[in-house]
Amino acid sequence: MEKNNCHCSNSIDCHTGKKKKINCLKCKTEPYEINIRENYPLCKKCFLSFMQHKFRTNVGQTKKVKKGANVLIALSGGNCSRALLDIFYQYHKGAENPKSGKIQRFNEIAVAYVDDSIITGQNNVEEIKKIVSPYNIPLIINSIEDIFSISLDENNYSNIMNIVNKEGNNKEFTLASNNNIDNKVAIKELFDSIPLIADKESLLNNMRLVLLNFMAKNSKYPVLCLGDSSTKTAIDVISYTCKGRGSSLPLDTGNESEIVDGVIMIKPGKTLLKQEFIQYNKYLELTALPDIEMSASDILKSIDSISAGFINDLQKNFPSTVTAVVSTVNKLTMDKNNYSQYHCSLCLYPIRKDSEKWYASKSITEIKDINNFDYDHTEVYKQIPQFYQYLCFNCQILMDSIKPQDNQTLHLPSYVACRFNKYKSDSSQ
Ligand SMILES: [Zn+2]
Ligand SMILES: [Zn+2]
Repeated sequence: MEKNNCHCSNSIDCHTGKKKKINCLKCKTEPYEINIRENYPLCKKCFLSFMQHKFRTNVGQTKKVKKGANVLIALSGGNCSRALLDIFYQYHKGAENPKSGKIQRFNEIAVAYVDDSIITGQNNVEEIKKIVSPYNIPLIINSIEDIFSISLDENNYSNIMNIVNKEGNNKEFTLASNNNIDNKVAIKELFDSIPLIADKESLLNNMRLVLLNFMAKNSKYPVLCLGDSSTKTAIDVISYTCKGRGSSLPLDTGNESEIVDGVIMIKPGKTLLKQEFIQYNKYLELTALPDIEMSASDILKSIDSISAGFINDLQKNFPSTVTAVVSTVNKLTMDKNNYSQYHCSLCLYPIRKDSEKWYASKSITEIKDINNFDYDHTEVYKQIPQFYQYLCFNCQILMDSIKPQDNQTLHLPSYVACRFNKYKSDSSQ
């Protein structure tokens, strides 16, 4: 007797193990080709329009973005930002069509790329140029070491924050005049003095985002479009919490946020899965840069990789994992009363009130008696540099991770000293 076809919602027949002949859920006429969300089988044409539709809805929901603004699209070259560039471009081109009245028209779109080869050793500038050139839109490239030459406020940047090694391996943060330091040397020495991969990654991410914001502001693009997928957002929720950035999660992962005056960051890919961006690139034969390959031992040292592994493994068995994590974090809000009036001098995100005191209350300088938990933290608190009250908890940890060698002086980008000076003079008034 012939087995009946099963009628459950799975795309695989429970009896035969073969792909069911299901039609596309949208057009209902074509056979489906892909089913990334498990319960949403689509044909190629409907999938491509689904991507465009999701993007359009997200852009439409932004509240702070003004009509006719210029948008700078951050491109890393990875699958998500690569696909998002194409989706954005198609959207922008469509807006020129007078019939598409619903589409919000932007004035000009351009692409921003941060070349971090001095830290990662991977130079992708030529590949990026190849990706962007068919679109015939401006491409702005800055190197990560340019972070040492930027000024975010009106203040001049004659000062710089030095990290000096004192006797007994204690670090001191001192303000010095900015004597034309060599950006390349400064950034290289700074990153070389951080032993752990997780801390390097975190500092690089923080600096890259500040630089992108500066590029947008400096080139008069009031909107900065970031290529985050929902998969990346779910991973960030886990990794940022581990890195001590939990208090700024609503801003870090939000759809719209502002850390530099006059630049709104948007994430119009935040409701799309990484797998969907990969499929989009496959269908349209768009080349993306491969993910950075890490050795198995390095993966275990990277909070980002461990968090990615955790979310990706869960997602395989429970396809709604990413959506559940992202919709949960979307509900988080920040209660202003719990935050300092200052933003972090380094990453520019809000600082949880008294985070430096909290840090001291959880830290010890030496283990005296492993059975005695009554540790006097006042000594620790005395050693916390004054500078830390103008840093978020994550950046305090990053500052602690920097280990200058004997007699070595390291530098932080001058905007950090600039913010520190500004806050210090504000608080003394
Ligand atoms: Zn269809
Ligand atoms: Zn910070």
